[in-house]
Amino acid sequence: MSGVGEKKAGLYQKLGVKTFGDLLELYPRRYINYNDYCLIEEARPGRICAVKASLVSKSPPVKASGGRVIFKALAGDENGDELVITFFNNQYALSRAFERQEYIFYGKIAENQGGKEILSPYYISAKDKNKIVPVYPLTAGLSSFVVAKDVQHAYRLCAEEIKDCIPQELRLNLDLCHRAFAIKQIHFPDSMQNAQIAKRRLVFEELFTLSLALAKIKNRNTAFSKIKTDKDKRELRAFIKSLPFTLTNGQLGAIRDCFDDISGGKLMNRLIQGDVGSGKTAVAAAAAYCLIKNGWQCAIMAPTEILARQHYETFSKFFAPFGFKCGLLTGSLSAKQKRETLARISSGEVDFVAGTNALIFEGVNFARLGLVITDEQHRFGVRQRTGLALKGQDVHTLVMSATPIPRTLALILYGDLDISLIKELPPGRRKTDTLLIRSGKRARAYSFIRSIIDDGGQAYIVCPLVRESETEGAAQLLSVNKYGEEIAQTELAGYSVGILHGKMKSKEKENIMSRFYSGELSALVSTTVIEVGVDVPNASVMLIENAERFGLSQLHQLRGRIGRGNRKSYCILITDSMNADTVNRLGIVVKTNDGFVLAEEDLKIRGPGDFFGNRQHGLPEFKIADVSADADILALAIESSKKILTDDPDLTQPANLGLAQNVQILISKIAEGGLN
Ligand code: ADP
Ligand code: MG
Repeated sequence: MSGVGEKKAGLYQKLGVKTFGDLLELYPRRYINYNDYCLIEEARPGRICAVKASLVSKSPPVKASGGRVIFKALAGDENGDELVITFFNNQYALSRAFERQEYIFYGKIAENQGGKEILSPYYISAKDKNKIVPVYPLTAGLSSFVVAKDVQHAYRLCAEEIKDCIPQELRLNLDLCHRAFAIKQIHFPDSMQNAQIAKRRLVFEELFTLSLALAKIKNRNTAFSKIKTDKDKRELRAFIKSLPFTLTNGQLGAIRDCFDDISGGKLMNRLIQGDVGSGKTAVAAAAAYCLIKNGWQCAIMAPTEILARQHYETFSKFFAPFGFKCGLLTGSLSAKQKRETLARISSGEVDFVAGTNALIFEGVNFARLGLVITDEQHRFGVRQRTGLALKGQDVHTLVMSATPIPRTLALILYGDLDISLIKELPPGRRKTDTLLIRSGKRARAYSFIRSIIDDGGQAYIVCPLVRESETEGAAQLLSVNKYGEEIAQTELAGYSVGILHGKMKSKEKENIMSRFYSGELSALVSTTVIEVGVDVPNASVMLIENAERFGLSQLHQLRGRIGRGNRKSYCILITDSMNADTVNRLGIVVKTNDGFVLAEEDLKIRGPGDFFGNRQHGLPEFKIADVSADADILALAIESSKKILTDDPDLTQPANLGLAQNVQILISKIAEGGLN
């Protein structure tokens, strides 16, 4: 971007802007509409208002306590009312304003010794023709005003070259404006209505390109599979009978859905969605059973080693009566073990493999892969999820997710999946009671935990990292180890306490987990490594320290580790946050056990980028779309992408070339981000 200066170019880089073209795609967050102004009399304290007034005088700067420098000016309007204008630490703020000129000031109104004051307002000259002014996302050192100037410059340079990538026919059908109009109106709208029209078009473009890219990555245009099973249900019934519990109707329904897919010659592409503890594993096992019985191999991929190992144990038990051979493949096996397992997979000796994403690496070759199951689906990037299915031809896929995903996000991530919902929990489960307490009551919480352990139960104690930014090593180790050791000598002295965190060697992790499974350990002090999937039905109390650091869905996932058996379960959230929003947010977790409600709340509060913690879905950030607000456009985009791919699967028709190019660019971005 020649002409913007090196320092500024660096700041733009932070916003992902490298060229003038990129700059035109740095869209405003919102607008200030100076058309809606009022007089000073009508401006209500506490509100954000646009007020029309003339500048009367500027006062010399005043040094306030705490080192702040305050710049004030006085303005008056045609009624003779006065308004004080105040800026903090900003000596340039008033440099564009001149006495006896009329302006429209936009900002928060405050009361000031009986008069009115406007704090750090934006303003324009009342004579300005452009009364709708964009507000850009900020990064350190780039004010919205500066960005607006640069965008104008970029627009003057590039306006002629703006091409429309959406094929004209589709664009007209959907009543979308041309890209050139959209770019102009999103940055310099003539009216709020035009800004809206521009936005709709750009949101569509973004979501449309995304759904095309995802369709391409998934590359699953076929609807049929040669991998078929017997239509006869007798075998399946025998398996269901062999399980140590009676399946719920929800589980049976989901199994039936899978069975209909794989026995009917359809390529199964199914999401089993059910709240934590609803028993999705048994459903997956039933589907795998059918395929293995018919001579195919199946694999399950889990996001953590602990969960992969747990699945290995569970499936081994389920399949033992039928003589199926199971294997485990994770990154931490020794080279020799790995070689042996790989050989058994490629020779077809093992029928079932549980593993981590080690399963998708090169060198893993299945003899006759028929089904891949991805557990805790939302934890994987798009690429990882599809990687495993590509290890065979027309392989069935089953994905399981306990984290309920808001509908709109589900459409993006799982747009091509059929969904089986498990609505109920197995019988005998009692609702987990959740309490929110201050750390002053920690001692009482521990005395409660001791009483549960004394009664034969087990406890989880979850601590977050010390500092959020430090995901590596030291901080995590320090906090959990220190906390665990202290607790083992104080509140839980005399009880057997284990400590678990992600940075431990996998042998140690395994050892701790198996001692907790067996009941030898009464309490497990852990980071969120136990968040997904871990299943110890005898654990019935969980204490979560610094609960304010977790998202609602994450708390729900954590809480899902308890309430899995017949014991009444309790989840104790500790926070000392004084922030009213935070306390309200945690209050929602206390009030509801409904994962969907919590997920929708999460999406509202934190936005889609943050929804899965570390942006684990592997998608680039949206430039303009907001999936919680733009659900309708998203549905339209998905539908349109399906249509266009039916007519032109490779997007090679001349009208689609621009689109193909943008899709390709997005795919490479997803590839970079999705392989983390
Ligand atoms: P999730 O859906 O969270 O993956 P799991 O499959 O881990 O749940 O099952 C949770 C627990 O419930 C496990 O201990 C499992 O053995 C048990 N379970 C599953 N189905 C039933 C059932 N129908 N009746 C009783 N217990 C069940
Ligand atoms: Mg599970």
